[in-house]
Amino acid sequence: MKKIILASNNQGKIKEFNAMLSSIYQVVSMQDMQVAEVPETGLTFVENALIKARNASEQSGLPVLADDSGIVIDALGGGSPGIYSARYANCHRDDEANTQKVLTDMKDVPEGERTGRFWCAIVFIKHENDPTPVIIQRSWEGEILRERMGDNGFGYDPIFYLPTRNCTSAELSSVEKNKISHRGRALSALLKTLKKNQWVAH
Ligand code: IMP
Repeated sequence: MKKIILASNNQGKIKEFNAMLSSIYQVVSMQDMQVAEVPETGLTFVENALIKARNASEQSGLPVLADDSGIVIDALGGGSPGIYSARYANCHRDDEANTQKVLTDMKDVPEGERTGRFWCAIVFIKHENDPTPVIIQRSWEGEILRERMGDNGFGYDPIFYLPTRNCTSAELSSVEKNKISHRGRALSALLKTLKKNQWVAH
């Protein structure tokens, strides 16, 4: 089975990726390969995913799958926190503080204007100088609640309401979430491309 490095240190995301990839790739983490993190200096999800992928490939010599994702909320300046979703409350990857800041910032935003979406960019590079990265982007539409509902998932899941399901993404099982989420659908599309190009074992 081919070895691939997943350029993420976010345990929630690693779990989701592993569930979808483990039958095709031997997935190794940045920690396994002693890859140090790189500053995410891009201004878009795609740029940041490419920065992370190149860094991990450069340091490990392996093909890399990297993603960058976040929540984009229309009422917050037309798209915040966006690429800064993991550090919105200034404490890196503190899901609880980030969610609370969104709730506070949106307390005066009326129903009908609380729209937003999760966004995911996934890139695959075969080596550090790969001039033809595979780039896939998917989004997932929803609304921002006024209080948390549900215990599954991670990050902003408890306040991300899905009108078509009448629940939050934190109330979906991980299997259900992976079928319809921004990252789940981006990953399925990516896997199709990789299979078509015979970059996976089967
Ligand atoms: P990244 O790890 O730098 O890509 O940051 C992604 C951040 O966006 C996470 O820390 C979460 O706060 C948020 N996020 C991305 N995808 C999801 C999701 O599926 N559910 C909840 N929050 C998410």
